[in-house]
Amino acid sequence: MFEYAPAPESRSVVALRDSYGLFIDGEFTDGGGVFKTVNPADEEVLAEVASADAADVDRAVNAARRAFDEVWGPMPGRERGKYLFRIARVLQERAREFAVLESLDNGKPIRETRDIDLPLVAAHFFYYAGWADKLQYAGVGTRPLGVAGQVIPWNFPLLMLAWKIAPALATGNTVVLKPAETTPLTALLFAEVCQQAELPPGVVNIVTGAGETGRTLVSHPGIDKVAFTGSTEVGRQIAQAVAGSPKRLTLELGGKAANIVFDDAPVDQAVEGIVDGIFFNQGHVCCAGSRLLVQESVADEVLAALRRRMSTLRVGDPLDKNTDVGAINSAEQLAKIQELSAAGEAEGAERWSPACSLPDRGYWFIPTLFTGVSQAHRIAREEIFGPVLSVLTFRTPAEAVEKANNTPYGLSAGIWTDKGSRILWMADKLRAGVVWANTFNQFDPASPFGGYKESGYGREGGRHGLEAYVR
Ligand code: NAD
Ligand code: MG
Repeated sequence: MFEYAPAPESRSVVALRDSYGLFIDGEFTDGGGVFKTVNPADEEVLAEVASADAADVDRAVNAARRAFDEVWGPMPGRERGKYLFRIARVLQERAREFAVLESLDNGKPIRETRDIDLPLVAAHFFYYAGWADKLQYAGVGTRPLGVAGQVIPWNFPLLMLAWKIAPALATGNTVVLKPAETTPLTALLFAEVCQQAELPPGVVNIVTGAGETGRTLVSHPGIDKVAFTGSTEVGRQIAQAVAGSPKRLTLELGGKAANIVFDDAPVDQAVEGIVDGIFFNQGHVCCAGSRLLVQESVADEVLAALRRRMSTLRVGDPLDKNTDVGAINSAEQLAKIQELSAAGEAEGAERWSPACSLPDRGYWFIPTLFTGVSQAHRIAREEIFGPVLSVLTFRTPAEAVEKANNTPYGLSAGIWTDKGSRILWMADKLRAGVVWANTFNQFDPASPFGGYKESGYGREGGRHGLEAYVR
């Protein structure tokens, strides 16, 4: 590590309020309770936020129903599209404000919110705006379902909102969305964008609160569709809650992706892909490449290069433009990462981290590498959802496939090799919704994303993403 001058982004672009209300029927209103959201980088309370109880959720669902029946459902697609384009443009105009607020509330580096989250958020609205008047050509049906209840996690707060809201609105549905309790602020700023774009009241409703608010929303009899992204455990509960009802359901759950490096891969590029795969967004990524499978003959070389590269990662202030790895989103998530890492050591894997000094306050975890990992170890099986990489080795392509697929999850995988024929052979055999070749963590609104097995079902993004919202 070498010293460098701090280069913090200014917070002044964000006008934080002391308290935030629910967004129902086009207006901000009080809720049945309140909770606090903190900045995980210094534990500062950022604001008090309204928590929606059953009566609030009911109001939101009724507002969404009325908006669907009277305004949004009957509106021609070409008119709906104009609102989506308008929202996309406002998001671009206010991108800096959103990026700073997202880094404050979530702890992720400004380099990521500015260069990845916000551009992708706007791109999703632009992409689905384009479909609004062309649904008859998509071949998936054209009639909206009605009211969608959407519950999202804290790892990409605004991006997951965009993945949920853009296709729902483009197809003529109205929504009630619940953000995660540790990251409600950008969703509430998005509510302001809806006002600014003069979106008809009730088309988008935001109900903040904890798991109980989510449970109330998904079990509300007035919604036609549930879309959820989060843990497999909660996904299972939701699947049970909607079973036997006419509600449609899509689930985007956890993952334990294999990033597979063959002996003919360009080592420096592969190392960049490994680092991006697991340390991007502090590893709080459902498709994170959390299991490195490296061919035995090049394992020493790849691991030496990886340790060198990890030693240059800058961990710290999320608002510093030099920061590569920010804060862990919450004390609970930090405790979970610590517990699983301790289990890795106890089970006999070898733990390594670069030398690194951390801020005194806030939630932090140094990028960590485990070698000597066996398939039976918990760190090879369970989703850690943090900056922790488990390394396993293989000798043949068949062994790589077998190890990669040896997981209850099936969201993503990466392949690093010089041979195109091997990429195709592997991609065909890997049980994963997304397979990247000689790259990792690439996202595009035109490309569908989603899982197999315990990673959930349904696709978000692309033409396939429309399917979840039409009949
Ligand atoms: P979670 O599944 O508990 O929370 C996700 C969302 O669901 C939040 O908005 C939460 O308030 C809501 N929720 C919780 N209980 C609910 C219920 N019974 N009914 C309806 N909604 C409910 O995830 P978490 O606690 O934030 O994280 C736990 C683990 O989940 C992480 O460690 C990670 O492994 C995984 N995770 C996966 C993703 C992903 O993108 N696939 C995202 C976040 C977390
Ligand atoms: Mg927060």
